[in-house]
Amino acid sequence: MGLHIDNEFSLQHLMGTKTSSSIFDNEGKRHEAVELLNKGELKNLKVAFASYVERIIFFSKASGVSTSGIVYSDSKERTHEALIRDEGEVMLSAGAIGSPPLLFLNGVGPLPHLSSHKVSVVSENLDVGKFMADNPCNSINIVVPFAFDPSVGYVVGITKLSVATIVEKFSGPLSSSSLRLVSFIDVKVSPTVRFNYFEDPEDLARCVRGMRLVGDMLKTDAMEGLKFGDLKHSLPRNLFDDASMETFCSSTVTTIWHYHGGCVVEKVVDGDLRVVGTNSLRVVDGSIFNTSSGTNPQATLMMIGRYTGLRMLQERGAAK
Ligand SMILES: Cc1cc2nc3c(=O)[nH]c(=O)nc-3n(C[C@H](O)[C@H](O)[C@H](O)COP(=O)(O)OP(=O)(O)OC[C@H]3O[C@@H](n4cnc5c(N)ncnc54)[C@H](O)[C@@H]3O)c2cc1C
Repeated sequence: MGLHIDNEFSLQHLMGTKTSSSIFDNEGKRHEAVELLNKGELKNLKVAFASYVERIIFFSKASGVSTSGIVYSDSKERTHEALIRDEGEVMLSAGAIGSPPLLFLNGVGPLPHLSSHKVSVVSENLDVGKFMADNPCNSINIVVPFAFDPSVGYVVGITKLSVATIVEKFSGPLSSSSLRLVSFIDVKVSPTVRFNYFEDPEDLARCVRGMRLVGDMLKTDAMEGLKFGDLKHSLPRNLFDDASMETFCSSTVTTIWHYHGGCVVEKVVDGDLRVVGTNSLRVVDGSIFNTSSGTNPQATLMMIGRYTGLRMLQERGAAK
């Protein structure tokens, strides 16, 4: 970075470079999602590290297709079975990029597509892998003439100046896309998905409106006082020139990592998150969203996990 004092790992705000983190609190205690697991019934929990679910084990019964467990491989390529008992169920939480491929590879998807790749069809569903979207994000970086604490940087350089990023993003884009498998054999091969940002003109118009607002904000007296300089991605001088604003939006769009869809509710899963056409298989992750929350989605996702678990316990209690 051109800054020569290396402070190594530190939670302090120090001139030079350092390795930082945002998951430590002021006492240096680390917080992350695993804390939720620690509050669970650990004797009922078995975690397989560095393992991939390869197969969902389906069987037919009078009421339709059911699952009896999954087959997974560990880091040494050994395969194992994890089977459910009694009224147990399989819950897929492989995310928007992981859950649709698992359904495809296990025969839940569009019949012609699966058949053409010699995958036996368990349950036809035309919508697996569809309605995928990502909230488009555009930003500008400005140099602020004072130092402030970094919020998300991991390896950071701290000078008397700071770089501030002003981000504009929106949820519920109208542009969507479909996920495609690259391998119909190996679950470890990542699928491809192109999010088609701004394909729908309304999405581009929303970005232009949002960035105009950012431009207006930068012109306020409060921001003038900061005497900032532009680093890159400068906004067009004329905020009312639609064509240059649209070019700005298209050329600077990035992900904010809130991609979702692929097993959308009411299309691939029902209101109870059960895979349509199956009895004991649910999907509980960001692939079920047709719209991602406007803010960071992790809290919502964790709540959906907990909500679904509690619902399942209630259903079992009622069935007894
Ligand atoms: C760089 C980055 C920064 C982010 N920052 C934030 C933030 O600050 N706050 C926030 O709220 N959200 C943030 N997000 C978004 C958030 O992490 C995601 O929206 C959320 O994790 C999605 O949850 P999920 O359960 O759908 O999937 P994931 O969290 O992606 O979980 C799916 C898991 O399944 C695993 N998997 C996939 N296929 C298989 C398989 N076949 N077998 C076994 N395992 C499999 C994956 O490895 C992964 O661990 C960020 C995302 C990224 C990428």
